[in-house]
Amino acid sequence: MAQNSSVVDQVNKQLFIGGEWRDATGGRTLGVDNPATGSELTRVADGSVEDGAAALTAAAEAQAEWARTAPRDRSEILRTAYEFIVRDTDIFAELMTLEMGKPLAEARGEVTYGSEFFRWFAEEAVRISGRYSVAPNGATRLMTMKQPVGPTLMITPWNFPLAMGTRKIGPAIAAGCTMVVKPAAETPLTMLYLAQVLTEAGLPGGVLNVITTSTSGEVMEPLIRDPRSRKLTFTGSTPIGRKLIEQSAQQVLRVSMELGGNAPFIVFADADIDAAVEGAMLAKMRNIGEACTAANRFFVHADVAAEFSEKFAARMAALTVGDGMADGVDVGPLINAKAVDKVTSLVADATGRGARVVTGGEKGDGPGFFFPPTVITDLPGDAGMAREEIFGPVAAIQTFTDEEDVIRRANDTEYGLVGYFFTKDYARVIRVSEALEYGMVGVNQGVVSNPAAPFGGVKASGYGREGGFEGIDEYLETKYVGLAL
Ligand code: NAP
Repeated sequence: MAQNSSVVDQVNKQLFIGGEWRDATGGRTLGVDNPATGSELTRVADGSVEDGAAALTAAAEAQAEWARTAPRDRSEILRTAYEFIVRDTDIFAELMTLEMGKPLAEARGEVTYGSEFFRWFAEEAVRISGRYSVAPNGATRLMTMKQPVGPTLMITPWNFPLAMGTRKIGPAIAAGCTMVVKPAAETPLTMLYLAQVLTEAGLPGGVLNVITTSTSGEVMEPLIRDPRSRKLTFTGSTPIGRKLIEQSAQQVLRVSMELGGNAPFIVFADADIDAAVEGAMLAKMRNIGEACTAANRFFVHADVAAEFSEKFAARMAALTVGDGMADGVDVGPLINAKAVDKVTSLVADATGRGARVVTGGEKGDGPGFFFPPTVITDLPGDAGMAREEIFGPVAAIQTFTDEEDVIRRANDTEYGLVGYFFTKDYARVIRVSEALEYGMVGVNQGVVSNPAAPFGGVKASGYGREGGFEGIDEYLETKYVGLAL
């Protein structure tokens, strides 16, 4: 434990505003809990409405000068920060395991994934360009230029405390935007440490400002309505996203939304079943099932349902549940008691409608917010977990016999973030990829996240893309200049 507390001791627990660390107004603090024990890990500054306003002022004041910096300088800061994150892999990983619960090996995986956004956008910073063309009538010339959007508000969730931050901060730095970042109250330590690393990498004061708070709605709404803000980028649940879009409407704020999902995972009869089981383990169990990309509805062809369910349930039952800091643990705790209650009631609802629990199904006793890996078969289509994000280690299987029918059922949701399917038939790969109403599709693989690819959803899963060539465009405006001859 001494080692753990020393990692937490390395984090500055204050607000980061204008390049300086300062206490919250009135010295207020909020507790950060360890979900594996349910006990308080430490306390961080609890920012107020005034603190939020000060952060936006710092971002607004730094914007003009930051926009003028050479792209190469912004690129080098990101590249250096990437190297420092890799250097500090163990610190970031332990912080995430302690405040969020994911096992250390997974936390290290997030450090790799999260840091890559800085490397990718370091490379993109020097490739921002416009174009020059002759107007069709030949009389004028058309020039377009890309310019930073301006001060950006960033709100991130607790499930990927590093990567959901770097996915926004990386392109914003590359584009020349300043920012106010508000991490989730459950997981502020990773973001605070990231601010330290970026400062060490040479990021000028005022470019990145971090506000931690227990009153996110009160602190952020005035900033969203403040005309000095030029963009809001949010990753989180669809209900909160809807609320923030409404708030953004007043000043027609530019908005990116990375919201919830309800991913289908389809196994066709011709699939390699072992590969499908492997993919299912990743798509379901990555991050303890607490991922927007988590497979939420399994559709397995009736001819292979018994084989798939049996192999998948055996793999799920063999996972070790426990404190993510311990060796050999595969599945950590859920984020809090509310999350355990939600999963418990979704399982009760499913079994009440006739579904069958093959493994797991009931939360354990003792401290910490644990729920065992669970496989459910015979899920009726009207069960709650067929419509809602489960956000936990529960896999529910339905069967199908017809391709068109399964596509219709897969699309029968308000969400549209990611869909997965397994087949060996390449004509079907094209057909089904085109037919799925999702922003991303995984074919014969259970993970789609990649810093070089455009991540994002359609329908109630949001709009905008993070990563890929598209990711930097979210932080750039296109200006057209007409030139008379
Ligand atoms: P959440 O409750 O919507 O919270 C997300 C963030 O919004 C947190 O920082 C939260 O802060 C803040 N927030 C809550 N209410 C707010 C308000 N009224 N005004 C301003 N900010 C507010 O979501 P979550 O439980 O943290 O995250 C899980 C959700 O995120 C899931 O639905 C998941 O699918 C989604 N997600 C989507 C993606 C994607 O890329 N599409 C990626 C990861 C997660 P506090 O918690 O401190 O109040």
